[in-house]
Amino acid sequence: MLVKTRFAPSPTGELHFGNIRTALYSWLYARKNNGVFLLRIEDTDLIRSKSIFSKKIMKTLKWLKLDWDEGPYFQSQRINHYKNIILEMLKKKIAYKCYCGHEKLNLIKKNKILKGEKPRYDGTCRNLNKDFNSLNKYVVRFKNPSYGKVSFVDLVRGKIVFNNNELDDLIIQRENGIPTYNFCVVIDDMESKITHIIRGEDHINNTPRQINILNSLGSKLPSYAHLSMIVDSHRKTLSKRNNSVNVLEYKKLGFFPESILNYIVRLGWSHKNKEIFNISEMIKLFNFNSITKSPSIFDKKKLLRLNKYYLNINSLKKNKKILISLFKKNNIDFKKGPELKKIIKTFSPHCSTIFELFNSILFFFKNNKIKFNKKYVKTYLNKKSIYILKKLYIILINLKTWNSKDILKSIKNLSISLCIKLREIILPVRIALLGTIHSLSINKILFFMGKKKSLLKLKKFLKYIIKIFI
Ligand code: GLU
Ligand code: ZN
Repeated sequence: MLVKTRFAPSPTGELHFGNIRTALYSWLYARKNNGVFLLRIEDTDLIRSKSIFSKKIMKTLKWLKLDWDEGPYFQSQRINHYKNIILEMLKKKIAYKCYCGHEKLNLIKKNKILKGEKPRYDGTCRNLNKDFNSLNKYVVRFKNPSYGKVSFVDLVRGKIVFNNNELDDLIIQRENGIPTYNFCVVIDDMESKITHIIRGEDHINNTPRQINILNSLGSKLPSYAHLSMIVDSHRKTLSKRNNSVNVLEYKKLGFFPESILNYIVRLGWSHKNKEIFNISEMIKLFNFNSITKSPSIFDKKKLLRLNKYYLNINSLKKNKKILISLFKKNNIDFKKGPELKKIIKTFSPHCSTIFELFNSILFFFKNNKIKFNKKYVKTYLNKKSIYILKKLYIILINLKTWNSKDILKSIKNLSISLCIKLREIILPVRIALLGTIHSLSINKILFFMGKKKSLLKLKKFLKYIIKIFI
């Protein structure tokens, strides 16, 4: 049997980590089995669906190299096809027109709730024998079996059983003539011969309804795997409205596709204690048995750690190439600073993303005109800083071997001899050289900046703060 999986997003927002996990697991399963992975855009909600989101969905998948073999299919282009099937179903009396209208339906709902019952449709139109005149508004409902059970063996959760009498006669075509999600999905999965449906557990309640429709059409049933939700640190389910989990944002922040996929594959699936997976390992090891039933927590810190790992196993050549493109984008002549390979080697172990690396080495290449930050000077420094910086200046001017090890040693010795914390030396130097209060190791920065430039800056800074404090 040819394994066929699909990713079927609704283009109503950008893809978040939960969506991508569904795509990744579906893609992995298809690749593992030499099967087919299909992309379908579920855009029948004409108001909320936007073509910009469809484009972004494809852009995200392409960036992550989750390539699809079939599609993209757009449900909005198949409306007439779905409607023809609904007409057939009406003829066969496995579907029927319901003329109740919103008001009556709301009333039925209210009464049921008052009686403490489930707010189900009461079936008024189920056995109407005549067709009203065509001007009457109606929806089309599927005639769900009214007794018996419907069950399926979920590949993640095991056997799940529903009683048919708890399921509504599902609306499959709205008053405006547009077929509903639950119907289109069934027709598409059936006609595309999807064998494995992998999706979020928010769809579990749709599954028995979809199975009943499939059965009424005499179709074979696919296997289902429902993935538990991903929650944020506040235990809220990830949503398309929350930008902090939007995957394309992470592209903009300089994350690598490898680390994103490696992070996502482990959000709910594991293989022993293994943390690092390349794509071929994922394909080889992925299976449904090791998917967890409990919610997974999205943890940005873990993702940062993974990205740091990938940043540091990348070849120098690759990182250099990305950095050069960033320099060019920002119109900065990278040839005017220290040798790129050397600074990449020195600073990347301290950075989590390539952008962080770029930003932390930027000052080596910019003109010398960093304005001293008065606010930082007043907030973090005082008269004593003048004394400390003067001492440091003398030590550095006399330092014969200008390398980061000896610079660090000098700073440490000074802190010991003055009985002060290292921070009391490092902070003014940061403010002096970089105009910031955070930076990578200051000794390495002094080294790469060079003795002459560093001392010149320190001298100017001293003059500046003397004016402020004295
Ligand atoms: N379009 C649905 C969604 O975005 C997914 C449908 C499915 O996977 O069956 O949630
Ligand atoms: Zn009705």
